[in-house]
Amino acid sequence: MTPIQALQKYFGYSEFRHQQGAIIQHVLDKKDVLALMPTGGGKSLCYQLPAVLLDGLTIVISPLIALMKDQVDSLNVNGIPAAFLNSAQNPDEQQRLMGKLRNNEIKLLYLAPERLFGSENKLVEFLKSLPVVQIAIDEAHCISHWGHDFRPEYLMLAGLKDYFPNIPVIALTATADKLTQKDILEKLNLKNPAIFISSFNRENINYTVAPKKNSFNQLLDFLEERKEESGIIYCLSRKSTEALAADLKEEGYSAEAYHAGLNNAIKARNQEAFLRDDVKIIVATIAFGMGINKSNVRYVVHMDLPKNIEGYYQETGRAGRDGLPSDAILYYSPGDAMKLKGFAKVEDNEEQSRIMLKKLDDMVNYCQLQTCRRHFLLKYFDEESDATCGSCDVCLTEFERFDGTLIAQKALSAVYRLKERFGSNYVIDFLRGSKSEKIREEHKQLKTYGVGADISKPDWQRYLRELSAMGYLQVDGGEYPVLKLTHQSEAVLKGLQKVEFIAAETVEEKHTTVEAL
Ligand code: ADP
Ligand code: ZN
Repeated sequence: MTPIQALQKYFGYSEFRHQQGAIIQHVLDKKDVLALMPTGGGKSLCYQLPAVLLDGLTIVISPLIALMKDQVDSLNVNGIPAAFLNSAQNPDEQQRLMGKLRNNEIKLLYLAPERLFGSENKLVEFLKSLPVVQIAIDEAHCISHWGHDFRPEYLMLAGLKDYFPNIPVIALTATADKLTQKDILEKLNLKNPAIFISSFNRENINYTVAPKKNSFNQLLDFLEERKEESGIIYCLSRKSTEALAADLKEEGYSAEAYHAGLNNAIKARNQEAFLRDDVKIIVATIAFGMGINKSNVRYVVHMDLPKNIEGYYQETGRAGRDGLPSDAILYYSPGDAMKLKGFAKVEDNEEQSRIMLKKLDDMVNYCQLQTCRRHFLLKYFDEESDATCGSCDVCLTEFERFDGTLIAQKALSAVYRLKERFGSNYVIDFLRGSKSEKIREEHKQLKTYGVGADISKPDWQRYLRELSAMGYLQVDGGEYPVLKLTHQSEAVLKGLQKVEFIAAETVEEKHTTVEAL
């Protein structure tokens, strides 16, 4: 049977999506693969189809028991013998399963990493004795500290290749930046892996960031026209999910809370009710959502600032899996950013703190964009796209612009004169000709000193931010971020490239200025 025939026979689909076909071919050729595909893109099929075609057992590592059960049920419905192993099963059930495995009656076996390598590797030793043909690692970003959902038990998978040196491993995730990708490959010890990255663009999701003022009223306005629709509302704290769910109920909405602190029965009940459309709104912490396959989520709201773009993009990606227009809206306040900045410091781990702060910085930049949000998001994941999408709030807003080439030249030449060694506050004080002792004497002698005295500090902050959003400046992160030039800066300095800024009046309505973070 060819892959495409199997696709039709077992899954009832007529063609592959994204790079499914190529990924599957690689696995069939016994090659290691890392596949990045957006949520809802169809990752499972990439290992389920080879599992059907190959003669032997496919082991699937997955972090969530709830998820395994759903997958196994739907495989069995399609006539594919699959099973999962978890701690809730009694010894009898486990023995029966072992028997089936020995008789090659199972095609796919789902389990959590700690099962595989727990009790002194008993299970992995047993599985090694079987004809294993493929190992799939779902949610592979969980193995990396740099991923946004690190799970220590995933580190156990570092030993996989020792047990199964010649078995193709397929690692799958919907969320991994460059650093996380590299980490996954290294930790899993993949051999000459082929990396497949599908487009992450979710055309049907419209992105909006609104300044957070009275967020509950803002939310009610937003929900007013969406009374019959399903949505997920993310909050930072467990307490606020419960409070908000209660407030929404009082307003007549059908809403329930979900967070890791609720007992399992309540969590399961609320999740089920949401999946069945008995409850329209789930108010949750980020504990909610992984593996939730609900197609008609019409909106995802973030009441608080997410910690990084990866998490944010995955959460918003839960909207509109059915392809119909959906909304992602985030209420942003600079205060939230300050709060999270405090949390981002990891004790005794300078490098991790630095990375987390950089990621938070990117999240803040996203909120303060005056350029297309979709373009920024895709660029974050190294994907080229049009400069404007026509459907995010920035693209839909008519900004009045003015020629700011001279302003840009002043800023860039200040950064250059200061040898790219100072942060935005120093650069601004320097530009404004501050008499402060903080400005070094030798800098006061430079020609650029004071050339920007006619522009206020908050305006300079905004211009510097816009310049980095446009790619003319970059912030080299860390605890003491410094401003640096980019390969695009030179054209501006030489007068070859015009720069336009958004007129201040139009900005005030949409964005709040902040002390540069
Ligand atoms: P992911 O794990 O990437 O979030 P899933 O594997 O759950 O996504 O797939 C999302 C949905 O897309 C599922 O309902 C799946 O059956 C469907 N799907 C997967 N591949 C195809 C395809 N080639 N054609 C049509 N539908 C597909
Ligand atoms: Zn846009």
